[in-house]
Amino acid sequence: MEIRSLRRAYGGRQVVDDVSLQIMPGQVTCLLGPSGCGKSTTLRMIAGVEMQDSGTIHVDGKLICDTMFRVPPERREIGLMFQDFALFPHLSVADNVGFGLKKGTKAEKRKRIEELLERVDLLRYIDGYPHQLSGGEQQRVALARALAPQPRIMLMDEPFSGLDNRLRDGIRDETLSILKEEDTAVLLVTHEPDEAMRMADEIALMRDGKIVQQGAPYNVYTRPVDRASVAFFSDAN
Ligand code: ATP
Ligand code: MG
Repeated sequence: MEIRSLRRAYGGRQVVDDVSLQIMPGQVTCLLGPSGCGKSTTLRMIAGVEMQDSGTIHVDGKLICDTMFRVPPERREIGLMFQDFALFPHLSVADNVGFGLKKGTKAEKRKRIEELLERVDLLRYIDGYPHQLSGGEQQRVALARALAPQPRIMLMDEPFSGLDNRLRDGIRDETLSILKEEDTAVLLVTHEPDEAMRMADEIALMRDGKIVQQGAPYNVYTRPVDRASVAFFSDAN
């Protein structure tokens, strides 16, 4: 996926200012930056739930969005996982996972749901309900749900921040290995340098709506481009 020069202003303030990014299959790119720098807004424009003022988004060389033309969110082959990943409380685990599955017979859908729950190691809960699961288990169901329609791209907005520390590392690693197996291109938003260092193949450091530095985690961390970046990395520790 390639985004070029995305911009978005609210009430005269440029919240996303000329953001360009390329995201490769099987790779995790982290959009890292302090609170309010425009990360979620960028993600919402890519997801198609919010319109940019200018800029383009291409997937596999095909235009999915510019200021004149717009593929609707449900046809973008983009999966979403947000912090409040809220499963549907009145639906069973199976129905939650199957929610985004449009194609196929009932039996085919059930098979895909079983496969996915097996993947996240929760097959035994297939007929259970969200309230019967722990936070970490619910998170894994949310991952299965997001993966069900086989998205090319997964957008994740601080998906692990609601989990307690004890669970977080395990679920991060597990999520990562599943996404790599599926060869999904991942854009992960976080304000925690540690999380980015742990998960990213590439970090795009964002501040005041702009990407100020982009590169391999080690390079971004050890060669900050300015004082503000030094402060961001050291404050967070
Ligand atoms: P955080 O790490 O706290 O989630 P963020 O980097 O995701 O921050 P955004 O949610 O993208 O930040 O918001 C960037 C700026 O845009 C903020 O100052 C926010 O108040 C503003 N903003 C976001 N959405 C709107 C909106 N719908 N209307 C007006 N201002 C908005
Ligand atoms: Mg945000």
